Amino acid sequence: MKALILIDYTNDFVADDGKLTTGAAGQAIDAAVAQAVSDACTRGDMIFSVNDLHHAGEAGHPETKLFPPHNIEGTSGRELYGMTGEAFAMARQVRPEKAVWLDKLRYSAFAGTPLDILLRQNGIHEIELAGVCTDICVLHTAVDAYDLNYDVTVRPELTASFSPEGHRFALAHFRNSLGFNVPEPEEADGD
Ligand code: ZN
Repeated sequence: MKALILIDYTNDFVADDGKLTTGAAGQAIDAAVAQAVSDACTRGDMIFSVNDLHHAGEAGHPETKLFPPHNIEGTSGRELYGMTGEAFAMARQVRPEKAVWLDKLRYSAFAGTPLDILLRQNGIHEIELAGVCTDICVLHTAVDAYDLNYDVTVRPELTASFSPEGHRFALAHFRNSLGFNVPEPEEADGD
């Protein structure tokens, strides 16, 4: 069994009116990410949707100096975006034990979350990363996955960033410095 790790694909990071949105770049991957969620569900793979959790008036969090408030608990900004949100909701109905929502407090999906324990508990060594932003939360998750010896795939068409340069840098880093499988988009279409 494998796992799809879907990172921060929430309204605040993707929708036009999101508080910290990647906009068109993030929206452009919705159909492909939704398909990846649906395919993972069909195969019986695990799907982890791991999302920023912030609170109004939060003090002491390093992001408060860097970004406007986003992904505030209980707001629609913290709900999954678009077709991907529908696909994850469907996966939770069909295979509730395999579609897991986790909250995270830092960029990495591994930082302070039970993700590593849950992957190991299920005997999973192969993971795929998807979501936003390629060069922030996906990157930090990737570095932790590397340190934890996971076998990682990142399909470029399942990730996006505010910055095209940052997106390309992160993908090159995954391929050349972390040794991840980063297939060319046309190859990924055929599998
Ligand atoms: Zn955040």
